[in-house]
Amino acid sequence: MKFTHFATGLRSLGIGLAAALLLTAPSAKAADKGLIGVAMPTKSVLRWINDGNFMKKELESRGYRVDLQTAEDDIPNQLAQIENMITKGAKVLVIASIDGTTLSDVLQKAADKGVKVIAYDRLINGSKNVDFYATFDNFQVGVLQAQSLETALKLKEGKGPYNIELFGGSPDDNNAYFFYNGAMSVLQPYIDKKKLVVKSGQMGMDKVGTQGWVGANAQARMDNLLSAYYGKARVDAVLAPNDGLAIGVLSSLKGVGYGSKDQPFPYVTGQDCEVPSIKSIIRGEQYSSIFKDTRALAKVASDMVDAMLSGKTVPVNDTKTYNNKVKIVPSYLLKPLPVDKSNYKRILVDSGYISEAQLKQ
Ligand code: BGC
Repeated sequence: MKFTHFATGLRSLGIGLAAALLLTAPSAKAADKGLIGVAMPTKSVLRWINDGNFMKKELESRGYRVDLQTAEDDIPNQLAQIENMITKGAKVLVIASIDGTTLSDVLQKAADKGVKVIAYDRLINGSKNVDFYATFDNFQVGVLQAQSLETALKLKEGKGPYNIELFGGSPDDNNAYFFYNGAMSVLQPYIDKKKLVVKSGQMGMDKVGTQGWVGANAQARMDNLLSAYYGKARVDAVLAPNDGLAIGVLSSLKGVGYGSKDQPFPYVTGQDCEVPSIKSIIRGEQYSSIFKDTRALAKVASDMVDAMLSGKTVPVNDTKTYNNKVKIVPSYLLKPLPVDKSNYKRILVDSGYISEAQLKQ
């Protein structure tokens, strides 16, 4: 008896499963909303790994298939990846470009096939075939970096003069100019009043840019600045545009004896809230970073994909700022947040962006 019941139970479970499969198979197909190509620039800056993963997760949860590719900062590689996405039939391309000026031909191919394009985080310059731009308020990123130095040095209270050196991001990344200009909108008045002194005299993106956002390049330039301009003098602050460059700058400073009681580190900024930098902030080395919640950016970019493909109004909140030399690209700008030792727990750990365990490893 028992066995019969069990067997019947199994049989009906089998039938149930088959029915469930029959039921789910068509609806799983119906949920396939098509292929989206997601092109990321590199894995060597940690944030892009998160960006790629969050985008994939977010789009898949909405029923899309995702072709996620990362180009290791190699332009021909990124071009080939994007061409391949078009060939595979992607409906929308979400592109964080390496050099936003190199994509015009491939984007023309996309447009000819009716493929839509979202510039992700970095603007794509020189092409009319960019439909929307999802990013953070990049000028504000620079403002916040500079304000963290303004606060640390008590410049508003009239303190100074202090020595500062400036670093910029990669000259082929449109964002780098926004970060630098945002920061200079705060720092320049203090430089004019001689409350901040750039002993090297090196100012402007043509002089302070860091090719490829490579930390080792920033480290090498800092080595040169320290040996050429800071014999006995002390550097009090360094504007570093992201965390990778901040770590490079800090290694250089360590190399000449900064980081001790007698010779504390200068205030060094950053951006991205990468784990090594938050650990550095906790140790009292890097001073600040900027939090750009890439989970929120993935949501915004996915909302854009959804809206474009369903003919709905695409969410934008800025239609003035981002001129790509051919047109103004309608944009959605998210808010960056300043982070330092006093608030990293609340902003990063409590929000689940970084775990306590990651900070202890
Ligand atoms: C991004 C930054 C990043 C940098 C280097 C910029 O375009 O906005 O978050 O640190 O590229 O990858």
